[in-house]
Amino acid sequence: MRELSWRHHTLIQALLARGPLREDHFHLLFTRITEKSPDNDRQLFNNYLLTMNKALSFAQFELRGCRNQYDGRVYYGLVNNVSDEQSKLGTKYSVPQIAFYKAIVEAIAQDPSAQGGISNIAALHLQLENQLGDAGSQSHVIPPAFKNFSISLKEKTIAELAQDQWLNCTPDGFVNLGVRSFLDLRSWFRTNDIPSCEVCNEAGVKAELCSNEGCTVRVHRYCLKKMLSNKKSKRACPSCGTQWRSTAPNVEFKEEEDEPDARIQGQSSSHKRKKTRLNRDIDSGPNGDSVAAAQASQPPPDTRRITRSSAHQRIGM
Ligand SMILES: [Zn+2]
Ligand SMILES: [Zn+2]
Repeated sequence: MRELSWRHHTLIQALLARGPLREDHFHLLFTRITEKSPDNDRQLFNNYLLTMNKALSFAQFELRGCRNQYDGRVYYGLVNNVSDEQSKLGTKYSVPQIAFYKAIVEAIAQDPSAQGGISNIAALHLQLENQLGDAGSQSHVIPPAFKNFSISLKEKTIAELAQDQWLNCTPDGFVNLGVRSFLDLRSWFRTNDIPSCEVCNEAGVKAELCSNEGCTVRVHRYCLKKMLSNKKSKRACPSCGTQWRSTAPNVEFKEEEDEPDARIQGQSSSHKRKKTRLNRDIDSGPNGDSVAAAQASQPPPDTRRITRSSAHQRIGM
């Protein structure tokens, strides 16, 4: 294994100390440390990611890239690949706090309308008992720590989780997933059958739905432009052909319009690639190669889909 240089160490330390970093900030840091720009020296950047990931894998950590689904921005962060939540959330959070976090994630990710968030009030009323698993619900024994987990403890926990970027609280009173959750929960989204975006194949937690009730297609808002810029698609759902009616007030389907962060993401958005599946092509979108390099251990995409009505039944709505 290649030894890590002080440059690798500095990048890892920055991610450990500061938490997930926005792509442009991470690139800037990379440029300061290596005196090379990821835009001009993509190969070097990818080599850095691979070298760091090889070293990190020994401690079951991974440097990963993901998109924040609310604004479409790419972030880089370190993820703990140990599977239980206790190690992921560290020693900072108690068992009922972790159960509460899981309840919030489930409520957000399994929402059939893919709004990407729940109201603060709804979050405060989530029941922790559902997180005890089969053993807990069968024995009807609720641990006192769960029973005594008051509204004010819940409020405090939401604030702490938001501080650590596991959650994000919006000014209009919604609890959304934080960047750290998007980084960390990719395999959880897949094993829990969270329907994926038609374009990039990542879980569609915050996404637009096809207006045809019987159709399961959902697309991230930031992926929509790419889907609809294909002239042949006539701005229609790729599955059922229904005219796509965007609910986003600011989504205008101008082909020449580029992503807000395209500047930092290099050249590939201008390349027209010919592939049969929309997904693949655009997933590796603007900076796909470096995200892919940071995601070398990503499991294969799950193509299972559920209909909106079965989603309602599944989560008991
Ligand atoms: Zn997408
Ligand atoms: Zn459709």
